[in-house]
Amino acid sequence: MKLTLKKLILSVALLSVILTLLSSIIAGYRVNQSTLINGTLETNRVYAQKLSTLTDDFMDRTLQTLAVSADEISSHFDDANASALFLQEAERLKKQTNTFNSVVITRADGIVIATSPQTLEIVGMKLESQGSLQALKEKKPIISEPYLSVTGRIIVFISQPIFNQSGDYLGFVGGSIYLMEDNILNELLGEHFYNDGSYVYVVNDEGRILYHPQKERINEVVANNEIIEQLKKGKNGAERLINSKNKDMLAGFSYIPTAHWGVVSQRPTDVALLPSQKLIHQMLITALPFLILSLLLIWFISNRIADPLNKLADHAKDTTEDWELEEMKDVQAWYYEAVELQKAMLNNLRFFQNKVNFFIHESTTDPLTGLVNRRSMDEKVHKWITNNQSFSLILLDIDRFKRVNDTYGHTVGDQVLKFVAEELHKVTTSSDVCCRYGGEEFIMLLPGVSKQDAVEVAEKLRSTLENTISPCGEVITISAGVASYPDCATHIMELIETADQCLYKAKESGRNQIICAEC
Ligand code: GH3
Ligand code: MG
Ligand code: MG
Repeated sequence: MKLTLKKLILSVALLSVILTLLSSIIAGYRVNQSTLINGTLETNRVYAQKLSTLTDDFMDRTLQTLAVSADEISSHFDDANASALFLQEAERLKKQTNTFNSVVITRADGIVIATSPQTLEIVGMKLESQGSLQALKEKKPIISEPYLSVTGRIIVFISQPIFNQSGDYLGFVGGSIYLMEDNILNELLGEHFYNDGSYVYVVNDEGRILYHPQKERINEVVANNEIIEQLKKGKNGAERLINSKNKDMLAGFSYIPTAHWGVVSQRPTDVALLPSQKLIHQMLITALPFLILSLLLIWFISNRIADPLNKLADHAKDTTEDWELEEMKDVQAWYYEAVELQKAMLNNLRFFQNKVNFFIHESTTDPLTGLVNRRSMDEKVHKWITNNQSFSLILLDIDRFKRVNDTYGHTVGDQVLKFVAEELHKVTTSSDVCCRYGGEEFIMLLPGVSKQDAVEVAEKLRSTLENTISPCGEVITISAGVASYPDCATHIMELIETADQCLYKAKESGRNQIICAEC
């Protein structure tokens, strides 16, 4: 493939368009990605914060509700109908607050005195569960770690101690949240499990999962998770991380002070970044008409730039054979380099044309008379003969020219030769050829003219000269022989020979006359 300026300009322009497009798409993509990541992190941070506040308030209220209940139970502890009242209170706590999956009231020794629901059938029994043991031991408000109950449930136990007015410990009132079943956390945190893989989960300060949309993960301890480490330190924030399932996530997290838990709201990074791909798609679609327009413009401009140089180059290649000066002038050079190149090429071409014309003229013209010389005459005759063009030939010689030279000098002799040459022109047409054949001998070639007509031309010349004073101050006369092609000869030399014989006869017969060949 020939490497042309047009192709080069096109390639460079195309490359720059493609690079610009690519870089703007990459830049747009990057900026958009970081905006999306930061936006998602912030949304999740705010959301986790909101849920943690909500949960914190709820825990606070739950402990208060239990505290009020503990006071109520304490004030009726020794009543005769205490059992019925406690049962009523347990029912109220369970149903009214809708917080617990089950409620239990025990004595200081851990013996259950009331439950809700009553289907538990543990009244009168001593509670040995982790939550109740902790409550009995600590005798203060507790939110327990999750533990496995005797019924096989994973439970978080919340309780308040019951004290009488003199400060004696009477037992506790507490409620269980069954983590694996429908519970208040589900209601509180809502179903934030989206199809796109976003979800919320809650962990305690050990990293144990208390709430997770995938129930089977509840009670699992999350290891190697930077966020859990932060939550353990009571911190809030947002981070991009690879979670324990090796998934790239954008997570917001917030600590719940009352329960020492933490809420994590997170969305898979690839899901968050999906709009970025759409953006690229949209950018490409939006850019497409401009791209096509740019390409057309580039094509047009590169054509306009390359065209003058291309044409000049073509002409430069051709001008060695053909002197196409006019065509080169027509090249529309419209910028500095092309204009200067065109100027230089035209100047060079003109210079060489002049030189060549000069040399052609020199080699084909007789310098004294300006008539064509023998060489040039031979060429023309050769063409005519090749083209079967008929013509007549007049060979003429100035009479007694030597005497002119001898009498008036060589310079005057030259002027007489020029004078005769001019007279030759006067009797011929532009298609005729007048040649200085030798010193004071001339040949006139008349294409398409018959021998008789040629004689008339010669006669006209002879008669003019006979009646004109030449530059030497005297009349000079001529003698001539006339022959024609193809009647008298088949070859030029033969034709000249025939005419020469006639000329000789004219000289012999007393000069100043025309003799025509008989053929
Ligand atoms: P004729 O009538 O027999 O032709 O006699 P002529 O004197 O013309 O013939 P000749 O051949 O004896 O002389 C020709 C002369 O032409 C001789 C030469 O000096 C002269 N001559 C030839 N070329 C030139 C030229 O270029 N300039 C001048 N001034 N004279 C020339
Ligand atoms: Mg002569
Ligand atoms: Mg002569």
